[in-house]
Parts: sequence; structure tokens; C-alpha cells
Amino acid sequence: MAAHLQTVTDDWSPAPAPPASARAAGGPRRTQRIADALRLTRALQTTLDVERVVEVFSTQIRPQVAHDGVVYRNASQALLFKVGAEARQTCTFRLMIGNQALGELAFLRRTRFSGRDIAQLEELLPLLLQPLRNALLYRYALWSASKDPLTGVDNRGALDTALRREVELAHRHGNPLSLLVMDIDHFKSVNDRYGHTMGDCALRHVADCAASCIRASDMLFRYGGEEFVVLASNTEWFGGLMLAERLRNAIAAMRCTCNEVELQMTVSVGVSTLEAEDDPAALFARADEALYQAKVEGRNRVQFMDRVPA
Ligand code: GH3
Ligand code: MG
Ligand code: MG
Repeated sequence: MAAHLQTVTDDWSPAPAPPASARAAGGPRRTQRIADALRLTRALQTTLDVERVVEVFSTQIRPQVAHDGVVYRNASQALLFKVGAEARQTCTFRLMIGNQALGELAFLRRTRFSGRDIAQLEELLPLLLQPLRNALLYRYALWSASKDPLTGVDNRGALDTALRREVELAHRHGNPLSLLVMDIDHFKSVNDRYGHTMGDCALRHVADCAASCIRASDMLFRYGGEEFVVLASNTEWFGGLMLAERLRNAIAAMRCTCNEVELQMTVSVGVSTLEAEDDPAALFARADEALYQAKVEGRNRVQFMDRVPA
């Protein structure tokens, strides 16, 4: 397989204009190239979806540089996708704006890329840079709006959306759904004793530990403060209790080191499972009530509540 790797940046400038005599001869071709570039620029402005931007670029430039497909890779946004067909020969460009990396774009085709093909790609790729950067920024903004900046897990806004969706789906398909509310015990004393920076560090450890205990289909959220919620779809009350016990045990066994101080924490967990008449608020309220009971009964324990007390 022939591989070519090159960096394309936004400081690209067009080749100097040819002398007037040559321009007269190449005039229509030059006009055509400008028209193509304008059409490409307009097409790239029609979307803020990263995959669509790459697809539009690939489709639009195909008449100028034949290729079967493209692969786009961006490690910092965990993106990797292919548009079009697989082929053995590759020609890869590292895309940059200033010193900001925008990922790598590989062109694929069955036949080798010639020097002329590569030169044409180098001329066309700078037109992709700004639209691609805009799409990446937009994607990041959407992603970060649903994340808790301290722990990196989904935030309360994301929980509201997911809870509504999961309750509706569970009712519609008759599937079980369990909800866990988990609260760190006596967390105020961590802050009081070691300060807020250490408290923040401890919260990150708890979130990481919880994230490592749950299945891929379970969803973890930071509800606020030192409270976390887990939504476990397709999970009956017994599965919910097992999951809560697993979380409680894992956090009690965790030895997290913050600023060279080893901290030990425990959590209390309230669990509820969806019932036929439940709306999202009712499901949440029962788990919250169960959490309150777990606190009253001494903390570092799991409580289940299947009915709102009369
Ligand atoms: P309990 O066992 O009853 O839950 O006791 P607690 O001390 O955990 O509960 P309390 O509600 O009295 O205190 C919660 C503490 O969590 C107080 C607050 O400062 C701390 N906290 C909430 N959010 C953050 C945060 O983002 N960072 C840090 N460092 N502390 C936080
Ligand atoms: Mg607490
Ligand atoms: Mg609390």
C-alpha cells in the first residue's frame, strides 16, 4: 500500500498568477477553477455536522481528484469514520489551522495517487479547514453542554432528558427500568478537613469509580453537589439493588489519593424501579425517599422503595 502523509494548514496561499500571455491561454481553465472553489465553499457552508462536511468535500472534489472514499480521524474528539468505499492506496493529510490540529483526512482509491493529484488536493484542502473547524467547535459545544465540567460525567440537564426518554421507552415496550440516587456520606467533613480542592478531587474519584462499575447500557449523571444518579434500563428491582450494592462496595473499598492524602469514603444509595403509573418525577421521588431512609438508618447502605409511603 502506498502511503503519503502531508500537513495542510490555513497559511496556504494560491500559486502566483501566471504572466498575461499564459493567462490568455489558461483563462477559461482558471475561471472554471474559481467557479469550482466557490461552489465547494458554498456547499461546505450548508452543514455543521462533521461527517456531512467531510462527505460534501469528498463528493464535490471527486470530478477534480478521483477517489473511492475518505477516512477522517480526530483523536481529541474520539472521531473515526469512513465515507465511500474502501481502497488500498492512501494519501493522508494532517489538517491544521495555525497550531490547532483538526485531525487527519485520508483519501482512498484503487490506483496510486500521482504527484498532480496530490498537488490538486493540496490546493483544495485549505477550503475545508474553516468549515471543518466550525463543525468541530459546534460538536464540542453540544457535547460540553451535557457534561459536568468537574467529573466529566453527564450533568443534570442530560439526566432530565434521558429520564424522560427512558421512562417513555420503558412504558411503551413494557421493559423494566431502575433508578439509583447515590450520595456521598458526610462529604462536608472532607471539605471542612482538607479544603474544597481536595473535595473536588474526591468527587472525581467517586465519579470514575462509579463509571467503572456500571454496564455500557447504564447511564451515570452528576445530579448536583455530591449526588449522582444511575439510570439502568432493562433492569428489574433485583438488578437495581445488585448494581447499587456493587457501587457501594466499590466506593467503600476505594482508596483515592488526593494531594498525597489517602481518602476513604462511603455512599448511601436509594433505588426505585418503574411502575405502571409512574412518571419520571414519581420514579425519582421514590429513589430519593429511599436514599433518605438509607441515611436515617446509618449511611453506607442501600435502600429500595417500591411505593410512595401513604
Ligand atoms: P450526608 O451523609 O448527610 O449526605 O452528609 P454530607 O456532609 O455529605 O451532606 P451535606 O449536604 O451536609 O454536605 C454536602 C457537601 O458537599 C457540602 C458541600 O460543600 C459539598 N459539595 C457539594 N458540591 C461540591 C463540589 O462541587 N465540590 C466540593 N469540593 N464540595 C462540594
Ligand atoms: Mg452527602
Ligand atoms: Mg447530598
